Amino acid sequence: MLVSSADDIDVERESRTEKDHEYFETLDEVFNAYTWRSLFSLMNKGVVDQILGPLSQGKEARVILAKDRKGVYIALKIYYTTTSTFIKSRYKYIMGDPRFKNKKIKKDIIDIVEAWSRKEFGNLSAAYRAGVKAPRPIAVERNVLAMEFIGEGNRPAPTLNDLGVDGLDDPDEVFWEILRNVERTYVLAKLVHADLSEFNILYHNGDIRIIDWGSAVKREHPLAFGYLARDLDNVFRFFGVGLEGRRVARLIAERAGE
Ligand code: ADP
Repeated sequence: MLVSSADDIDVERESRTEKDHEYFETLDEVFNAYTWRSLFSLMNKGVVDQILGPLSQGKEARVILAKDRKGVYIALKIYYTTTSTFIKSRYKYIMGDPRFKNKKIKKDIIDIVEAWSRKEFGNLSAAYRAGVKAPRPIAVERNVLAMEFIGEGNRPAPTLNDLGVDGLDDPDEVFWEILRNVERTYVLAKLVHADLSEFNILYHNGDIRIIDWGSAVKREHPLAFGYLARDLDNVFRFFGVGLEGRRVARLIAERAGE
């Protein structure tokens, strides 16, 4: 098992800049004992062979580049178990509840984080099975979700936000492809992404991949229609298209026989 590679993390590097310092602190925080156990399980199962470097750090999770046994790049999304805004924002009541003391709190937080990782994996799997353009799900182990790495060499594909509409080869085609995938998600996967925007669509070889399925809800969810309309509005805003999310959402719902 290797935890570094020449082109990603050189732990022996002599002169660390301020940025390097942050970078290593980030790694320390991510690889706490709990997360290491998750990663070792994935290594034992043959899913992960090498851990390379961080791809991104968000409020609730970090995404890390790794390689599988065949030397193929994969992406690992690691949900934080400590200092998580995810916990703070969604589960404030747990902290305030006197029944949840010390160890119990820790265990509850871990249960929630694991449930969240499994939920994202389940949503991603359902979307992928339905033929939605999303990274191929590989495995979920406690707070770690392994999926296909979308990128060139070890460089992750840019998001639509990184590129802007003008950075796309054929913006019209990308726009319609996103709409087809939103519809497919609703009609065939029976889900609404619920956090769709230019930040969660990767652009790779002229094609799209929709990521970040943690917030997706089932079609039956009472707020699903509103989320669908909001997802569509985000897409229309990005492309500067004068359509109304609710109207298009209604058309998509009709296609689903609703
Ligand atoms: P968060 O919920 O923390 O925002 P995301 O799932 O949106 O996490 O991923 C954050 C970033 O990580 C993305 O913008 C992208 O740069 C990178 N990323 C996520 N998944 C992949 C993937 N499968 N392949 C390549 N890069 C990815």
